[in-house]
Amino acid sequence: MTGVFDAIVVGARCAGSPTAMLLARKGYRVLVVDRASFPSDTVSTHILHPLGARALSKWGLLGRLAATGCPPIHTYAFDFGPFTITGAPGTRDAPVGYCPRRTILDELLVDAAAQSGAEIRENFAVKDVLVEDGRVVGIKGRSKHGSSIIERAKVVVGADGRRSFIAEAIRAERYDEKPPLLAAYYTYWSGLPMEGRFETYIRDRRGFAAAPTHEGLTMVIVGWPYAEFAENRKDIEGNYLKTIELAPAFADRLRGARREARFAGVPVPNYFRKPYGCGWALVGDAGYNRDFITGQGIMNAFHHAELCAAALESVFSGARRFGAAMSEYQRTRDAGVKAMYEFTCQLATLEPPPPEMQQLFGAIHGKQKAMDDFARVNAGTISPAEFFAPENVNAITAAA
Ligand SMILES: Cc1cc2nc3c(=O)[nH]c(=O)nc-3n(C[C@H](O)[C@H](O)[C@H](O)COP(=O)(O)OP(=O)(O)OC[C@H]3O[C@@H](n4cnc5c(N)ncnc54)[C@H](O)[C@@H]3O)c2cc1C
Repeated sequence: MTGVFDAIVVGARCAGSPTAMLLARKGYRVLVVDRASFPSDTVSTHILHPLGARALSKWGLLGRLAATGCPPIHTYAFDFGPFTITGAPGTRDAPVGYCPRRTILDELLVDAAAQSGAEIRENFAVKDVLVEDGRVVGIKGRSKHGSSIIERAKVVVGADGRRSFIAEAIRAERYDEKPPLLAAYYTYWSGLPMEGRFETYIRDRRGFAAAPTHEGLTMVIVGWPYAEFAENRKDIEGNYLKTIELAPAFADRLRGARREARFAGVPVPNYFRKPYGCGWALVGDAGYNRDFITGQGIMNAFHHAELCAAALESVFSGARRFGAAMSEYQRTRDAGVKAMYEFTCQLATLEPPPPEMQQLFGAIHGKQKAMDDFARVNAGTISPAEFFAPENVNAITAAA
């Protein structure tokens, strides 16, 4: 079918496919293009916190994920050395998270977009953005057969990740930027049972985390400050294993396990981008990126896909003007993540917590309600602004 699409979505993973799916479900004509084909992996670990799972559930996709054999995660444990804070990360209606391989999750999302009526073109690389009278009106790209193709739409949505071609092409304004703070590498292990737990180990300027994923494997990611990135990449395996030795009991468990994949990792910058302009929008990492230490990216992509799709729908239906709908999308997105952005960037430095924070962690330890809340903060279930509010901190320390 040719003609003008309502939306062309560039990028078909966690942000792009849900945006396309939600618009297509409302009856809009959507084209999704991605230079990748699916199933395929990407450099990213893949903790999906309970509120991310809740989005899948709302879209009717959680059962499909569970049916792939992805183990649910009901407990988050934060090991500080002298003590461990262990809590439940979810809510009553979204009690568990997952750690699905991106090969499986992303394909599931692409399929859902296609089943909702979006047209999907894989192996399609966008090479240019068409602009007429200062307005984005379409894309020019190359298909898998090498032919050059032009497609037009009312709106072009860049869901093309943190190196977004669309954002660069239309020079989207960046704000509240912070440089890369953390360097980390991950791989997969067999013979390392996790019993439904996501475990994080926090040591001096070092940290690592482990979570169970598909096919009986456990993903283990190890990090150090970005200042050590260049030096430590000379011996990734040595530095990875040396960091794990900082938690001897876990190191013992790892000795009984077998590494099943190569190491992967990439440091990322932290930023917001203005997510809309004349004829274009951004969603997912293309519009907002934060360090991966708190594993918010997939869940944020889901939530921002919902916000972006709802704003575009209100424009397509004639209910609202583009500028009003999209500026509200930007405001809601930013307000929803701001406190977590600051918390994440602070954690990503791997600096030892200040004394008052260490005192708070000590006070939380052993009190189940406070430990659950701490797990929920890290899962993005409750906001750090709420948890670290003076009244709450005072209540926790007084109870201790
Ligand atoms: C090391 C690391 C660990 C992470 N760990 C976690 C974690 O545990 N939990 C979590 O929630 N998040 C994690 N993240 C973040 C998470 O990966 C991202 O937030 C998420 O992938 C964002 O999805 P997206 O759809 O916006 O972008 P992406 O997943 O980057 O998808 C962008 C898509 O756009 C396509 N594309 C790009 N350019 C073009 C073009 N010109 N033409 C056509 N297609 C194009 C790409 O092929 C790609 O498929 C991690 C990230 C890193 C780097």
